[in-house]
Amino acid sequence: MERPDAEPRLASEAAPRHPGTRRPAPRPDPAAAPLPSAPPFRLRARILTPLPGGATRFLPDGLLEVDAAGRITSVSPWQAPDGTVEPGQAVGPDTAPIHDLRPLLLLPGLVDLHTHVPQLPNAGIGAGLDLLTWLERYTLPLERSFDVPTAERLAPLAFRAYAAAGTTTVAAYATADPAATEAVFAAAEAHGIRAAIGLVLMDRGVGSTEIDRWPSGTEQLDASAALCARWHGRDGGRLRYAVTPRFAVSCSADLLRASVRLAGETGALWQTHLSEDPRELAEVRRAFPGAADYLAVYEAAGALGPRALFAHAIHLSAGEVARLAASGSGIAHCPASNLFLPSGVMPLASYLAAGLKVGLGSDVSGGPSPSLFETMRAGFYAGHALQSLAPGGPPPIVDPLAWLRLATLDGAGAIGLADLVGSLEAGKEADLVAVDPRPTEPVPGASCRDDPAELVSRLIFRTHPEMVRAAWVRGRLLPTGPSSRGPVSPLPAIRSDRDPARSRR
Ligand SMILES: [Zn+2]
Repeated sequence: MERPDAEPRLASEAAPRHPGTRRPAPRPDPAAAPLPSAPPFRLRARILTPLPGGATRFLPDGLLEVDAAGRITSVSPWQAPDGTVEPGQAVGPDTAPIHDLRPLLLLPGLVDLHTHVPQLPNAGIGAGLDLLTWLERYTLPLERSFDVPTAERLAPLAFRAYAAAGTTTVAAYATADPAATEAVFAAAEAHGIRAAIGLVLMDRGVGSTEIDRWPSGTEQLDASAALCARWHGRDGGRLRYAVTPRFAVSCSADLLRASVRLAGETGALWQTHLSEDPRELAEVRRAFPGAADYLAVYEAAGALGPRALFAHAIHLSAGEVARLAASGSGIAHCPASNLFLPSGVMPLASYLAAGLKVGLGSDVSGGPSPSLFETMRAGFYAGHALQSLAPGGPPPIVDPLAWLRLATLDGAGAIGLADLVGSLEAGKEADLVAVDPRPTEPVPGASCRDDPAELVSRLIFRTHPEMVRAAWVRGRLLPTGPSSRGPVSPLPAIRSDRDPARSRR
């Protein structure tokens, strides 16, 4: 096991050596200090976490302890220990070093319920296109270019980008290429992020896409089963398999049924897209004329249930909402994507009132950023817009702490991980992030009070790319930012210059 970082460059809890004769040395800036790379360790910081049942816990000066196995053993208010303490050294009978991170804020690691690893190079491109045109022009050409060498270069960078944004768990799509999907899993294993990943299943074309260049549905299912056998449950459950039919437009009823069967047999997650865009809805009606509504297509395959995760779910009828809620299925709310592409506004408050299990998804690159803080901001604005355009529904979610809960504990609950991660509580695995609120200050020194809602509000509305100082999964520090292994070879954005409208079959 790696030794924890115990370099004595952090704040000291010691009294000055010559009281009355010398001022104590200023506390080093935690933003410049080394952080523990592996457990066990103890962190002194501001600590904020949602708790089960709706409560939030905030400690303006707290201590979070992580044991050698990467589990949180206690979260408590800071109490100055007796005696002299050197920086980074043990205090009391325990041996784990204390790292003083104040004024940084410890939060549970964020849970991104919906993202596409191969699509990172196109993030921020294609705004305003409708979903199916965007798929044909940008996304499917990009995914076709995602061969093994590309996956081996891009996937490690993608996982670093998620961690740099504060995300410690992703439910992710790879592509329809089994070997490239294998490379994505290998990158997740090496990086340390917690992830559910799946080979994208599609046995029908979208518009003019050349589906015949992709493996057949049977081959894709066999490859999914093989990937699931190799990766599902790897590293004590840190990696999981997600059976991943792209969406009803690109999947036959047989493929959907077989995909659900595979998830049931293996205990894997099952994820897809649902009711994202009006043109998509029309395509589903045309492809499945016997289905009463969009959800009924997945229902006929037996998909609904606690193992199922549906992304977007914007244009649902009251009946679809009720059936989803009764089934215990999860919803990945992707508000930044829903507005980047003109897909619509999901009525979040109504869904929560109906009892749906909702978390958040960045949906890169339908969404322009892997940051769930930016996703929260888009959702907040969308809720206000919906209320002003369609008054009468439940009031929008305006409490920043409620948004933080969606991005952490609720997201974990939507994929069956709420007993393991999503909050900072003794007994849970130490998936957490240290966030520096200072880059979010509108002018230097305009800091927030020790008010948790105001602190999180700044993180949401003044998100800074460098505010996340560290992310850990099971107490192991995740690599963030650019790779340290030298210059990165180009990973260009990719688009097709064919006019989808003219080439549609
Ligand atoms: Zn998506």
